[in-house]
Formats: sequence, structure tokens, C-alpha cells
Amino acid sequence: MKIFDAHCDVLYKLWLNPTLNFEDSHELHINFNRLQKGQAKIQCMAIYIPEEVPFQERFEVALEMINIFYERILPYYPSIKLVRTKEDINKLKEDEIGVLLTLEGCDAIGSSISRLKTLFHLGVKSVGLTWNYGNAVADGILEPRGAGLSLFGKQVVQENNRFKVWTDVSHLSIKGFWDVMEIADYPIASHSNAIELCSHPRNLNDDQLKALIQKDSMIGITFVPYFLTEKPEATIKDVLNHIDYICQLGGEKNIGFGSDFDGITSTVLGLEHFGKYEKLVNELQKYYTTNQISNFCYGNFFNHLPD
Ligand SMILES: [Zn+2]
Repeated sequence: MKIFDAHCDVLYKLWLNPTLNFEDSHELHINFNRLQKGQAKIQCMAIYIPEEVPFQERFEVALEMINIFYERILPYYPSIKLVRTKEDINKLKEDEIGVLLTLEGCDAIGSSISRLKTLFHLGVKSVGLTWNYGNAVADGILEPRGAGLSLFGKQVVQENNRFKVWTDVSHLSIKGFWDVMEIADYPIASHSNAIELCSHPRNLNDDQLKALIQKDSMIGITFVPYFLTEKPEATIKDVLNHIDYICQLGGEKNIGFGSDFDGITSTVLGLEHFGKYEKLVNELQKYYTTNQISNFCYGNFFNHLPD
């Protein structure tokens, strides 16, 4: 079963450690071998700048991470291609894997639309507005102020619309979420689960889930154990519970996966790295048709990619 995974932090891990080998390093949840084993078709790779980096250096670090993709991955793996559109994806050969570059948090652009557009020109196809804290665009979900979109934030969303780029609401404040739903043409939640099943502020409440479904937007179920369950250990069954819950809200065509591999230190039992996706597929086969599963794993995200 081919996989479209909407979020991972492998570029961040490669940036942290220049000696890691993308081919087969066991320190990476996502490496080339594991992508092949898990039947990756499209992998989104996030540009995530850690909190320790001073604000004025964040754009530089974003560029460094993009360079890692262009210099440490692309030249060595001819079967990996940068993709931006459905057309690019349709051109991939059977054994080729497409990578979509995504931005996780607009801290990197400061308050510069030129920087944002430069990232688009380099291939960025999805823009997460915040990480957990505040920036010039909006507040993240853990910023006590809880502010929505600034005037500059609205400009960013308008540029996302104009360039047909996803506006990603994962990590965003509640108020920011509703502001985005009003003005974004292509909103998604790349890696968030249902708060009714697991009470973590990074998860989405029913009103938010329903609004995303109503606007025909995607929700990437994420494998962060403590976003899946309040129990000490998360299992594949917990992933299925979130799928089932969103289906019940009418979101069958809006469900995908945003694993957060390489952005997590603990993992779901049985889903320890990308190569284990097959185990999730096997479990899904007990409850869903092949057509439903292929939509969850790939088709839904593909269908919602703006051209
Ligand atoms: Zn994240």
C-alpha cells in the first residue's frame, strides 16, 4: 500500500548531526531503506527550526535545512524527486519517491514576505504558521496570550493562497485556527489528532474537526504517542480509534497520516519507524475496505494537493 505522509522532521535530525547517513542510519525513523520498506510514495519533509536558535538566525537555519535536502539527499538517491504538484507526482515512476518540502512555523521568515516567497521558489508547498509559541504571524497553542492572525499573518495566508500552498494549522492557537479557516483556500492540519480521545492541547476539538471537514480539508493523524492516548503506551489500535472517530464526524475523505517521525522520541508500539507502516495497513484491513485504506494512506492527501 503506497503511503503519503504529511509530516516528518528528518531534515532537522540530519541538520543536528552532519554524520548521520540518510541511507540506513538506525537513528532515523525515516531513512532511504525505511522509506522503501514502508512503500513511501510521497514524504513531506518539514523545515523545523528549534527554539534554541535565536530569532534573527532562523531564516539562515531554514536555508541550511533546505540545502541538506538538495545536497545530502537528492544527489545520492536518483529515485527521490522533489515534487510540488499533482502533475509532478503523476510523473513519478513506479520505484520513485516524491518529497514535498514544508515549513513548520513562520518564525523563519520573521516579518518578510520576500523570505516566504523565496521558500516557495525553493519548493516549499505547505506553511505551518507557528510552532508552539508566538511569532509575527500568530500565536502557537502553548502561548498563553492565544492571539489569532496578525495583519502580517493574514498577508502570509493570502500569499499561500496565491501560490497554491497549504496553510497548516497544526500547532496554531485556537483563535488563529478560526482566523485561518475564514481566509485560507487550502487549510490542512498536517499532524494533529482528536482531543475528545486524548486531551492534549495540540489536538483538535470537535468544532475544529468539523470545520476542517466542512471546508474539505485534510487532517493528518499523527503517531505522537501522547497525542493518541492518555495511557502510558500507545498502540496501533489507538491510531485506528482516531480514524474511526473522524470517520464518525463525516471525515472519511479527509483523513490521512502525518507521522511526525524523527520529531518524536517515543513511538507507537509496532510503529517504531517508517518501515513499519505495513503493520498499520494490516490492522486497518480488519475494519476497512482496500479502497478506504488506500485513501487514508495516500489518495486523500493526493486529492487535496492544490495544483
Ligand atoms: Zn510538529
